[in-house]
This record gives sequence, structure tokens and C-alpha cells, in this order.
Amino acid sequence: LSFADFKLNKQLLTAVAEAGFEHPTPVQEQTIPLLLSGHDVLGIAQTGTGKTAAFGLPLLMKVKYAQGVHPRALVLAPTRELAMQLETHLKRLATYTDLRIFAIYGGLGPKTQIETIAQGVDILIATPGRLLELYSQGDLVFKELKTLVLDEADKMMDMGFMPQIRRILEVIPRKRQNVLFSATMPDKVAVLSEEFLEFPVRVEV
Ligand code: AMP
Repeated sequence: LSFADFKLNKQLLTAVAEAGFEHPTPVQEQTIPLLLSGHDVLGIAQTGTGKTAAFGLPLLMKVKYAQGVHPRALVLAPTRELAMQLETHLKRLATYTDLRIFAIYGGLGPKTQIETIAQGVDILIATPGRLLELYSQGDLVFKELKTLVLDEADKMMDMGFMPQIRRILEVIPRKRQNVLFSATMPDKVAVLSEEFLEFPVRVEV
């Protein structure tokens, strides 16, 4: 199997080739077709398995080009480090698109982040606290949101982010595609996935 076997566009295939990815990893093989056909996915995979491109490539296919000012996809991450890593990784895959990908997180003042958001973001990556902070100030509008990704969900639960995630689920559109990735599947993550995934297909590597 090669990346060209998936229904990905040329811009993405070029970026994949430049990243040096020759063959899809097992999690990519299973996840990419499911997400492209519109399913919700519950993925159990560790860092290093290629999970970022597994949800990232279908996400970039779906959002496709820059449009409007409000984010159409949201990727939630437990830590600032992961948020920054996701931003780098997704931007690299989006090199040949015009998509605006941007990460917001705590630990530094929100001013620059607010200014960037105001100029328009297609794919927003965020830690839960900073996201809710900017949302409650009116700096973020979720009415165009069509996809939600929760990365490292077990870590999010360990860090006590359940109330923030519940709050986020209340303020984003109901009709959307959902992806959850977690390295492990403790009860807390099972509860979380039942709360927001719709008929998910489980992928385990
Ligand atoms: P991740 O699990 O998303 O954190 O990815 C782990 C590492 O594997 C990253 O450095 C990716 O750039 C790399 N990677 C992802 N997919 C592939 C692939 N199909 N072939 C080779 N390397 C990959």
C-alpha cells in the first residue's frame, strides 16, 4: 500500500513524499480511509506510530483551503509542547496548501494569539484552558467548526481536563466529525469517548 492509494490530493502527496514517508504506517492504513469516508474514529495508538498524519491528512483533505475567518477544525492537546509539535507537523503536511494552521496555549500572553486568530485560522490547535479563555472573551467563534480531534486523551484526563472538555463540547456545533486518540484506554477515556463520539470505529495498533 502507498499513500497514493488513499484519496488524497496532489498537494498532500507531495508533502508526504518530501517528509520522506514511503509507506503508510498501520495506524495510517486503518484510520485514513475511515476518516475520509466520514466516520468518527477512536484510535488507540502511542506517539511514534504516525498518528498525527493518520488524523492530519484526512483533516487537511476536508478543510482543503483557506476560507473565512473562523476555524473549521479544532485539535485539542493536553500540553503546550504537544500543541506546538502538532502545529509544526500539520504545517509541514500543509506546505502546498494555503491553509492557516495555528496553535494557542498558555504560558505566554494571549495578545499575539488573539491578533492571529482575528486574521483568520482554518485549523486551530489548542490546549483546553487557553481555548476557553479566548472563547469566553469573545475572541473565538465556533459556528463553522466541522471537525474535532482530541489528541492524547488519556493525558488530558490525567491532567484533570474533563470539565474543560465538557464545556468545550457545549459551545461547539453538534453536527461534526470526531476523532479521539489515546495511548491507553482507561475507564475515564471510555466515558469521554462515549460522550462525544458517534458510532466510532475503533482502531488499535
Ligand atoms: P507521530 O506518531 O504522529 O508522533 O509520528 C511519529 C514520527 O513518525 C514523526 O516524526 C513522523 O514524521 C513520522 N512518520 C509519520 N508517518 C510516517 C510514515 N508513514 N513513514 C515514515 N515516518 C512517518
